[in-house]
Amino acid sequence: MSESMKTTLNELCQKDIATASDAELYTALLKLVQEQSQKQIKPVTGRKLYYISAEFLIGKLLSNNLINLGLYDEVRETLASIGKSLADIEEQEPEPSLGNGGLGRLAACFLDSLATLDLPGDGVGLRYHCGLFHQNFKNNIQNEAPDFWLTDQCAAKATDTVFPVSLAGNTYSARLYKLPVTGYEGRTNMLNLFDLDSVDESVIGDGISFDKKDIARNLTLFLYPDDSDEDGRLLRIYQQYFMVSAGAQLILNECAARGCNYHDLADYAAIQINDTHPSMVIPELIRLLEEHGISFDEAVQIVTDTCAYTNHTILAEALEKWPRHYLDTVVPQLMPIIEKLDDIAKTRTTDSSLAIIDQNQVVHMAHMDIHFSHSTNGVATLHTQILKESELAGFYQLYPNKFNNKTNGITFRRWLLKCNPALTSEIESLIGSGFKKDASELKKLLNYTDDAEVLKKLSCIKKANKEALASWLEDKQGIKLNTNAMFSIQSKRLHEYKRQQLNLLFLIHEYLEIKAGHTPATPLVSIFGAKAAPAYIIAKDIIHSLLTLSQVISEDPEVSRYLQLAFVENYNVSAAEKMIPACDLSEQISLASKEASGTGNMKFMLNGALTLGTMDGANVEIAEAVGNDNIYIFGQSSKQVIHRYAAGDYCAKDWYEADPNLRRAIDFLTSEEMLKYGDEEHLKRLQNELINKDWFQTLPDFNAYVVRKEQAMSDYAVNPEAWNRRTLINIAEAGFFSSDRTIKEYDDDIWHLGK
Ligand SMILES: *Cc1c(COP(=O)(O)O)cnc(C)c1O
Repeated sequence: MSESMKTTLNELCQKDIATASDAELYTALLKLVQEQSQKQIKPVTGRKLYYISAEFLIGKLLSNNLINLGLYDEVRETLASIGKSLADIEEQEPEPSLGNGGLGRLAACFLDSLATLDLPGDGVGLRYHCGLFHQNFKNNIQNEAPDFWLTDQCAAKATDTVFPVSLAGNTYSARLYKLPVTGYEGRTNMLNLFDLDSVDESVIGDGISFDKKDIARNLTLFLYPDDSDEDGRLLRIYQQYFMVSAGAQLILNECAARGCNYHDLADYAAIQINDTHPSMVIPELIRLLEEHGISFDEAVQIVTDTCAYTNHTILAEALEKWPRHYLDTVVPQLMPIIEKLDDIAKTRTTDSSLAIIDQNQVVHMAHMDIHFSHSTNGVATLHTQILKESELAGFYQLYPNKFNNKTNGITFRRWLLKCNPALTSEIESLIGSGFKKDASELKKLLNYTDDAEVLKKLSCIKKANKEALASWLEDKQGIKLNTNAMFSIQSKRLHEYKRQQLNLLFLIHEYLEIKAGHTPATPLVSIFGAKAAPAYIIAKDIIHSLLTLSQVISEDPEVSRYLQLAFVENYNVSAAEKMIPACDLSEQISLASKEASGTGNMKFMLNGALTLGTMDGANVEIAEAVGNDNIYIFGQSSKQVIHRYAAGDYCAKDWYEADPNLRRAIDFLTSEEMLKYGDEEHLKRLQNELINKDWFQTLPDFNAYVVRKEQAMSDYAVNPEAWNRRTLINIAEAGFFSSDRTIKEYDDDIWHLGK
């Protein structure tokens, strides 16, 4: 314990910390972090990055900041010496609700790596009051409630900086809030978040409903407000323009303050457009540069040199496009510019499928990004290849040099040091601490693959993490897990392409096998975490089916000795930090070609889970890194899937009728057992969808999935030492998936920061 830390905390608390409450200690620690991170702010020279994103899924900040500032151990020990637990104090902090899923988490990992690598790079986004909804379950159904996470203690501090933003002809003031982002032994950058003073949480009615037309009061209430009606879609455009207009003004101001004359903007700023939500930054910057006296043609060139675009998906419905009259309403000042950009695009190609404004007067945001930025990147090797060969093939022919790949990564500070301290210290005792800044050093662990003691230690750490997860879940949801079982986890947003329904069919199959007297090689605990978009009906039906099956199983002691199904409510970063270190088998079972990268897959691997996955996204690169013996791959290839879509000859019903096991599992959805706890409408709708549509081809992969998963269960049960060796190899080979590596590649190929 350090006396000086105790003195510091006493001063910050203005009392003896031994008598302070957790809330008081939390406030004191926030001040400590604030003071220390302030000291890491460094002047910017040369090019600075602005990473614009609709979401930043940053997770709780206190512990991570303490780790990055090198204060974590000292603080934890000092508190322990007076009988306080840092983990309890951390419970005081609400998790910021500024993100939704992988795309937002990627943005958060990138900010951590930028600051760690001492690169000047800020985030730009919105300060949502309630962000993504809070999920709770009632009668086995997902309900949505507002997540009032913003407190006075929120680390994002209001500034006096405001920028005027014109929405549908009315001027609003965007206030800048700054949230410091401190790297590991690095610098402090900023997450710049914009908000409108007049936004009013009291307009929220039942659940998460509110008057979508009342922009002055609702603008920044929610992330991704329901867009199933026109007012909701307009609101999304209001939000997007508010973010990029304020962001563009901030960028121009900051650059001018450093001596930029706007003609040389690209020497001062690099702007990364994270998916299409910030795309309007392109015409907005052109508009602002013209206001500063720069000609349209030059402004177009400046903006192209400054901006780069990241594509995150090939799902057609996620590539944003807006009817032109929406933009005429919300951002009339941009439409003449977008029209001129469209004219230029049409001089470059006669291919009408590459137009920004198509024949139906629909504006394609991604097309604007590709034409008028200098870089378009995919987020895993396979994904970039599919963009080049199919989804964006026309653009690739037109601009071959713009296309590049940047395989996603995760920050090891949060996804190893913070979430798995026991594994971290074991690794440190074996190979030293260099891996914290140079993740490739994890390969040194390969020297221990035959060390029985090390392998045993790994399994003890895993067991302890399972127990910690079990006790957290018991406190939270009253679920008791069998920690002697294999833990399989599928946690990610709920989407049909991610195929939680495939896992569901497996669990039904397993249930029926056990009922028939065929017990599995190992008891299995299957854990889910997933929110479904509130208007996504089939996704909610899948949640309902899983929760209903969970109840069927838990009410049946004959089965629950061998099989459990737990669904963690309100999956978020804090839940992920508890779940991932406890996982044996990581479920990455998307339909091949549909998951652009995935980053959950990397987190699980790093924490010593083996992957059960399709050859999709970064799973392909994980398989390459660990070798086929250390991963469970199954299912159709992306080529087969793409071919099946092109041929248009997939008929789910044929598969349903041909495979008795599959038919039995699907039929079970509306069995007496399920209807006892479930709702017929939901269960029937999902059953019908699977038999008659199954757009994401669950049925063709069912058999292979069952076989592979049962193989994994048997391997786990039969030879634990061999299993532990394979987990060690997964940890050792995870270095490539550090976001430090990803950020270095972005910097080398696209940004050239600080130069
Ligand atoms: C990493 C992460 C995701 C992304 O998971 P995928 O499996 O890559 O979709 C989503 N939500 C949270 C809370 C995460 O931490």
